[in-house]
Amino acid sequence: MSKGLYWFQHDLRLADNNAFNQIVSRVDTLHCVYILDEQWLNTNHYGFSAIGDHRLRFIAESLRDLTQQLEALGQTLHVYVGDPVSIIERLVAEHSLHIIGKHSYPGVFEQRQWQALKTALPNQGFVTGNSHTLYHFSDLPFSLNDMPDHFTPFRKKVEKFAEVSHPVTAPAVLPPPLLDKSTWDEEYPNYTKAPKSSVIQYLQGGASAGLKQIHYYMSDTKALLSYKETRNGLDGWDFSSKLSAWLASGCISPRQVYWAVKRFEETHHANDSTYWLIFEILWREFFQWQLAKYGKKMFFHRGIQDKAPTGNHVSKVLLQWINGTTPYPIINAAMNQLRLTGFTSNRARQLVASCFIHELGQDWRYGAAYFEHVLVDFDPSANWGNWQYLAGVGSDPRGLRQFNLQKQTDIYDPHGNFIRNWT
Ligand SMILES: Cc1cc2nc3c(=O)[nH]c(=O)nc-3n(C[C@H](O)[C@H](O)[C@H](O)COP(=O)(O)OP(=O)(O)OC[C@H]3O[C@@H](n4cnc5c(N)ncnc54)[C@H](O)[C@@H]3O)c2cc1C
Repeated sequence: MSKGLYWFQHDLRLADNNAFNQIVSRVDTLHCVYILDEQWLNTNHYGFSAIGDHRLRFIAESLRDLTQQLEALGQTLHVYVGDPVSIIERLVAEHSLHIIGKHSYPGVFEQRQWQALKTALPNQGFVTGNSHTLYHFSDLPFSLNDMPDHFTPFRKKVEKFAEVSHPVTAPAVLPPPLLDKSTWDEEYPNYTKAPKSSVIQYLQGGASAGLKQIHYYMSDTKALLSYKETRNGLDGWDFSSKLSAWLASGCISPRQVYWAVKRFEETHHANDSTYWLIFEILWREFFQWQLAKYGKKMFFHRGIQDKAPTGNHVSKVLLQWINGTTPYPIINAAMNQLRLTGFTSNRARQLVASCFIHELGQDWRYGAAYFEHVLVDFDPSANWGNWQYLAGVGSDPRGLRQFNLQKQTDIYDPHGNFIRNWT
């Protein structure tokens, strides 16, 4: 009788989850776990915890949704808070488990932990599978070493030579649980409720809410048809897909989004905007594979280019930026929105990062670390990759990029609504 443990991590869903499907087909009983890594809750050397209240809240909602999905199939989810490797080692010893499964993920800590687990448990079976990216590693038309360091050649190659496979369906039957139903909600750390007054109250964690948003953005409102024209908006719900938080926590997969766009194009209409959502998903893809290629270099001050960056760290200036008290109204509005909701638009992220690096002359890593803490949709590759890009030490072929804040305000907030709403 084979006993397995599935470690849910950044894949909080049952559908399109290759690793989960694999373990389900190989074991007779299964222990499904999520481990909130306690080091994410501690203050790091930048002065922030890696995970803040907005993401804690979103993950808790996602775990509740996952629990319901599992319970509908006779399974259950157990949530632990602590060091994942020690917790899994203990569970393996206590319950004589045979196989451990987890999705593959390019994050540096996550890879180290997986390796540490394999070293600590040399006689264990391990299964893994990739559903976090559009392409499987074997689909890529280059080796990681030869992967282009700029987006456009990367995009052209994958668009020409690689196929996006269809999402795999969730298993209809699951092996029974190893342990009884858990009451994990009682142990999960306190988190703040979603703020009432913002668009982000709609950002509710969980695969069900993520799939609903795909449907809302595409079939219900057809907002997708004007995405290319509206995507640089600063405030509101429909100007962009808002799928990032569900993608980052793995409540939905990029392949589900890709094929939803393709279905929409067949049944409704294909235009520049429908293509552009895929184009942006390819940006996500690019940074995922960059993280796989460069690992910890994505977090280095000198970046993947090993180039001397500008900027110092002055804590007073960092706090002004965080609290929205800089001399720049558009920056203050965006930073208030970010602090209060855990979300701000792509345009606003570019502006506040550019201001932090250029006008305020700060060390870009403190900005990236604050984003990591505060963003509801934090993803290591997208966050640190975009910050490196803007700091001129990453994958931007043009080098250092500075936005003219007044010009950007005139274009994107001509009537001052965004600044008024968030000041
Ligand atoms: C400094 C900075 C930090 C960022 N940090 C993150 C992060 O931690 N997590 C994150 O998901 N995105 C990050 N982004 C990218 C982007 O701002 C967000 O993905 C986007 O604003 C989320 O809103 P949306 O889902 O409505 O995006 P849409 O415009 O609807 O785009 C669809 C999807 O494409 C992907 N995407 C879009 N733009 C980018 C991009 N520039 N890089 C990578 N993927 C992209 C996202 O998965 C997004 O959900 C960052 C951008 C900047 C400039």
